[in-house]
Amino acid sequence: MNPFSYVRARDVTQAICEGAAADVKFLAGGTNLLDLMKENVERPQRLVDINLLPLAQIEETAESGLNIGALVSNADLAADPRVRKRYPLLASALLAGASPQLRNMATTGGNLMQRTRCYYFYDVATPCNKRQPGSGCSAVGGVTRIHAILGASDQCIATHPSDMCVALAALEAKVNVVGPGGPRSMAFRDFHRLPGETPHLDNNLASGELITSIELPQDDFSQHYSYLKIRDRLAYAFALVSVAAALRIEDGRISAAHIALGGVAHKPWRCPDVEATLKGAQVSENRFAEFARDLLSEAKGQGDNDFKIVLAQRAIVRALTQAADGTPQSQTDKRID
Ligand SMILES: Cc1cc2nc3c(=O)[nH]c(=O)nc-3n(C[C@H](O)[C@H](O)[C@H](O)COP(=O)(O)OP(=O)(O)OC[C@H]3O[C@@H](n4cnc5c(N)ncnc54)[C@H](O)[C@@H]3O)c2cc1C
Ligand code: SF4
Repeated sequence: MNPFSYVRARDVTQAICEGAAADVKFLAGGTNLLDLMKENVERPQRLVDINLLPLAQIEETAESGLNIGALVSNADLAADPRVRKRYPLLASALLAGASPQLRNMATTGGNLMQRTRCYYFYDVATPCNKRQPGSGCSAVGGVTRIHAILGASDQCIATHPSDMCVALAALEAKVNVVGPGGPRSMAFRDFHRLPGETPHLDNNLASGELITSIELPQDDFSQHYSYLKIRDRLAYAFALVSVAAALRIEDGRISAAHIALGGVAHKPWRCPDVEATLKGAQVSENRFAEFARDLLSEAKGQGDNDFKIVLAQRAIVRALTQAADGTPQSQTDKRID
């Protein structure tokens, strides 16, 4: 057991002051951080509990979008009538994640920050560049069933495990943060990183910065969306591959297409250049299959996970077809009018 101290921050200013020291971690729902501490993967010297901060509200923005406080639980977010009606893609992705008990504890900010589920990252007896920079990557040449097929490096082939983040990538959310340098915002696509030479860095949050909220734009894609998650069992399992598909269709033709993939890379994967080729296209399964091949053209399997390349292509076709039809696959997706 590693000793650590604990403080409960009363306001954001105190949280930022406390968070500025080395080896400090913010504690939100604790569903990932405490597991990692028990496994000796994370060893903070101090925990700053942020649960008293006033960051648990969902509010309208001046741009007709929604601002989601970092402490809104995954359960409350999925159940919010505005989210269900205007951003059913997000509600659907949230409900595909974890279990009801976990979603009650897990927060919006913590979900962005959750760490990879790579087996070797959790096993402190094995080398892992993400856990201990420079020690090597046990997954390369090891068991790779859950690992990346896109954007990996020879330093790390881990994937980001979140469902919620895949929907946020497709919806083009914004992340609002505050830290010792003051507040700033970044596009969701710029939040998470690819591993490159620095796989220990999951995202572009600077040291001591606190996520305060996630902002959703007005464009909600509520008419044509689908979140399709393929996993080993129907509940309580991380995605092998997931697809968030958001389409705008005018006069039978696609006028906008946002497609994000989960379970395939170190971050939710999007290719705006390939998405742009769908603009003006008629809805057709053959066209979707061609699109899926293009999106996966750079994919590279590691052996055990080669199946993900074909799986992802098929999942994309299915999700796009469902989105175009306006018939998402899940019972939880019933639209509120
Ligand atoms: C058994 C199990 C199954 C799961 N299945 C799924 C699944 O299918 N899909 C899925 O998407 N997720 C799944 N999860 C992961 C779960 O969604 C995350 O653990 C959860 O979202 C993390 O949120 P939290 O509030 O508990 O974060 P915490 O555990 O409190 O924190 C996680 C990290 O985020 C940091 N952090 C928290 N809040 C902030 C903030 N506001 N600003 C800056 N840093 C912050 C913490 O310092 C820590 O490093 C599963 C988890 C478990 C345990
Ligand atoms: S894939 Fe990444 S997280 Fe997994 S062992 Fe290699 S370096 Fe560690």
